[in-house]
Amino acid sequence: MAGRLEKSRALWDRANRVLVGGVNSPVRAFKAVGGHPFFAASGKGARLRDVDGNEYIDYVLSWGPLILGHAHPRVVEAVTLALEKGASFGVPTEAEIALAEKIIKLVPCVEKVRLVNSGTEATMSAIRLARGATGRDLIVKVEGCYHGHVDDLLVAAGSGPTTFGSPTSPGIPKSHIEQTLTVPYNDAKAVEAAFAAHGGKIACMILEPVPGNMGLVTPAPGYLEELRRLTTKHGALLIFDEVMSGFRVGMGGAQQRFGVTPDLVTLGKVIGGGLPVGAYGGSVALMDLVSPVGKIYQAGTLSGNPLATAAGLATLEELEIPDTRDRVERWMTELGMGLHQIAKEAGIPVCLGQAGAMAGLFFRDGDVMNYQDALKSDTKRYAKFFNGMLERGVYFAPSQFEAYFGSTEHGEAELDQTLEAARDVFRTL
Ligand SMILES: *Cc1c(COP(=O)(O)O)cnc(C)c1O
Repeated sequence: MAGRLEKSRALWDRANRVLVGGVNSPVRAFKAVGGHPFFAASGKGARLRDVDGNEYIDYVLSWGPLILGHAHPRVVEAVTLALEKGASFGVPTEAEIALAEKIIKLVPCVEKVRLVNSGTEATMSAIRLARGATGRDLIVKVEGCYHGHVDDLLVAAGSGPTTFGSPTSPGIPKSHIEQTLTVPYNDAKAVEAAFAAHGGKIACMILEPVPGNMGLVTPAPGYLEELRRLTTKHGALLIFDEVMSGFRVGMGGAQQRFGVTPDLVTLGKVIGGGLPVGAYGGSVALMDLVSPVGKIYQAGTLSGNPLATAAGLATLEELEIPDTRDRVERWMTELGMGLHQIAKEAGIPVCLGQAGAMAGLFFRDGDVMNYQDALKSDTKRYAKFFNGMLERGVYFAPSQFEAYFGSTEHGEAELDQTLEAARDVFRTL
């Protein structure tokens, strides 16, 4: 049960003197829900403990990566063994091959892959590759999707930029913003119109096939298929940003679940098992345009880092055990049905979305098909929900515009405790 936050408060004051807003990534500051964040001391399985000794059931899971929960024994062992052998070499290691082989085996569109250090790096590099491959500059981006803090993609961006009311960031040259055409999610007609107007100049369309950074929104039947058709027709590449949906929406990502294969995919989060990893991949022909085979430059001092690859590989190997990922999905479904029922009984309108092992809860009446719908949510009510749950030891994301996640370690006890807390909290909303 969460109670006092004295030590967190003291650390918060100290943090604010030396770190911008007290944090190293904006949404962590809890600004959208009031108050200040708790400081983590440790985590085990589905639970997180703060520096004051309060315990929380964790539905943020480091914003998605920890699909095996905190400090999973297999990940701890793999990273410990790797560290004892040396943290980084700057020459190739076998673990990089093993992680690449695993990604290629699991993700349909990938024949070759490049490992990087974050999701941001992955999307930045994939865009560069798409432009280099096509000789075109324009990109089509979907409103409310978040692809990290890449200049060209911080336009109508979800996640933090939306939470803080500046979906297009200052500091980005107008010439970059002009290269980015935005379209609403689930609107293939808008994509068709963009191609009709600029077809020969569009290098790629990038989107989260199942957006999880404006809350969670799912694709309308036929939408992804239509994007595949339009991009192919106009000689542009289709990039699925599966940094979040990879290994969560399906073992091979949304592309596997929905049977639509993009030209390039970007990955992150789960493939690092809690350590900093990203990746981008696609066909051999495309990937071989990247240096040192091709001329499109992209590099990284710590890319393919032994600790990160060990954590990622251990995570994917554990997830491959039959019924492991599916179990998380079933558990998430039970939680979603429970929350939905409780909201209904309390007379609070919510729109619940789920795709595999990720989900979202919008506080609004009616369906959410795109960013504009998501923005109509009652963010004040969400803040009340968030704080009420937190006080009862349940940690959901500190913003309406984020997904929530389960792990293999969330079980009956967590389900019961979460629903019990929700019953209390929904009565106060
Ligand atoms: C988290 C996320 C990113 C950015 O990854 P970082 O590791 O934070 O740079 C990019 N795309 C999507 C879909 C994400 O969810």
